Amino acid sequence: MTNVAFIGLGQMGSPMAANILKKGYKVCVYDINKDAVAKLVNEHKALAADTPASACKDADIIITMLPNGKLVSDVVFGQNGIASKMKSDALLVDMSTISPFESDEIRNNLQAKGLSMMECPVGRTSTDAITGTLLLLAGGTKEQIQKAHDVLMCMGNEMIDAGGPGMGIRLKIVNNYMSIALNALSAEAAVLCESMGLSLDVAIEMMKGTPAIRSHFTTTWQNKVLKNDLNPAFMVDLAHKDLGIALDIANKLHAPLAMGAASREIYSQTSAHGFGRKDWTSVLTYLRDCQKGQHSN
Ligand code: NAD
Repeated sequence: MTNVAFIGLGQMGSPMAANILKKGYKVCVYDINKDAVAKLVNEHKALAADTPASACKDADIIITMLPNGKLVSDVVFGQNGIASKMKSDALLVDMSTISPFESDEIRNNLQAKGLSMMECPVGRTSTDAITGTLLLLAGGTKEQIQKAHDVLMCMGNEMIDAGGPGMGIRLKIVNNYMSIALNALSAEAAVLCESMGLSLDVAIEMMKGTPAIRSHFTTTWQNKVLKNDLNPAFMVDLAHKDLGIALDIANKLHAPLAMGAASREIYSQTSAHGFGRKDWTSVLTYLRDCQKGQHSN
């Protein structure tokens, strides 16, 4: 039977470890919070350890679920850290949301010691951590993912192979960037709506049929920029004009539209670099060119 170590028993880690225990695995747990350890021992018969090293000395799969990259690094390489006692054939799976650069560094430093790490950050919420329905974003070699698969699936109901070591945490960051920024943009749109006396319910119902809610990735981009066709279905300069109208209204009604103002700058620059009469999806072409250093702003 696979032995598991679980380090970091917070809002996410505690129910995740409990779900592994419920499937019959032997799990040795560690957290600086002694109450969190005691709860898992009393309620789910976890084994308790007093350092990360002792939690993982017999473990085949070691899981970390910690608040940030510095703490993951400390728990792995610090005094009585995981790296000092981890078996050479064990696999560390970091499930925390941390910077991909920090994650790469931890993986490379472990590799230099002959030790193995993959990452598997999670999507969804702490409610899904309780119900075992997390979305698992696996970043590792095929062999690593296969080795961790059964233990990981105790905590989630869907696993995505992100495409190799480091890609799981990159996928998580892109997803969070998009959904966190969209949350702010959605709030701006709702305030604009309400400031003009327009029903938010009516607006939501209408926008369910437009890229506003359906997303550009799966609608406007498909037959345009992703196929290198920039003939205008809707021109950059018209999009720029419409954003301006919304921003003028917001200005009069004191509705804060910071995301909208930033977007208007992007359309301005896209237009100024020759895309004004091209399709509005050419903002992607313009931003790609910027990233490659083809436009100086
Ligand atoms: P949390 O703050 O509730 O839990 C963190 C746990 O780590 C705590 O129990 C703390 O005592 C422990 N800890 C801190 N330092 C430690 C150390 N040196 N050694 C051992 N244990 C230590 O955080 P959380 O909500 O469980 O989040 C954990 C990770 O999951 C974060 O990276 C977070 O971004 C990510 N995440 C959270 C959610 C969510 O909805 N909460 C969803 C997806 C991903």
